[in-house]
Amino acid sequence: MPELPDLVYIEKRLKNDLAGRKIERVEVKQPIVIRVMLKQSFEEALSSERIEAVKRHGPFLKINFSSLQMIIHFMLSGRFQLQEPGTKRIGNICFTLYLDNGLALHYGDNKKMGRVYLIEENRYEQIPGYNEQGVDILSRDFTLERFVKLIEKKRSQVRVFIMDQRSLSAIGNAYADEILFAAGIHPKTLCSQLFKSDIERLYNTIKEVIAWGITEVAKAAEPVEVKVRSHLKVRNRKGLACIICGTTIRRAGVLGYDAFFCPRCQPNYLEHFINWK
Ligand SMILES: [Zn+2]
Repeated sequence: MPELPDLVYIEKRLKNDLAGRKIERVEVKQPIVIRVMLKQSFEEALSSERIEAVKRHGPFLKINFSSLQMIIHFMLSGRFQLQEPGTKRIGNICFTLYLDNGLALHYGDNKKMGRVYLIEENRYEQIPGYNEQGVDILSRDFTLERFVKLIEKKRSQVRVFIMDQRSLSAIGNAYADEILFAAGIHPKTLCSQLFKSDIERLYNTIKEVIAWGITEVAKAAEPVEVKVRSHLKVRNRKGLACIICGTTIRRAGVLGYDAFFCPRCQPNYLEHFINWK
């Protein structure tokens, strides 16, 4: 899934390339991802519409038209491609918007788990999870004070907490692992086990790691359909040596999700506690 740094990049690229463009033709191949909250069909509603703006809201991307909005929740495998004539298109295309400058905007999704909503302006309540997003971690509202308030009464594991979009919007699997690695916190640590200094370090690390991700994705300057992951230090590196200490990276299940971590850089407080008994 595109994570926050990817979405920041996609938002910027699409904003530059799509704003002001008119849709000449709409083609739907896999309607399963589409949810139309209007009287017209997807094709009817979008034909001849002009794109006014592209914006991000947590893990969602919004494309604004004159009186309509398209809201995209990419989930695990959804992605956009802005295809120039004569170049290769991505696979598993669900729909395509053909634009007046000759470009085609494809939405592809091999798992068909993403959702693309078409709504009347600002009818966000029709989109599951949209209005329930927590504090945007790239906004000014994401302060240490706010973070402390959010985490202090939580009983969950830290990784589960930082990925809970009703608290923090929005950290996915890859950056959750990178954040905990950089902060030296084991993914199964409970929020209640963190000292004040850990919480402050975790807060600063979230900001630093996401800013680093945004810089790396921008530096790679790939087309929007490419998932840039080569800069990651711990995610999907099971069995490889930790770049800090050389210990073998492990994978563990945390509430049904795979977490990657270095057992030496990220010691398990809980195990220490049990060993001492
Ligand atoms: Zn290590």
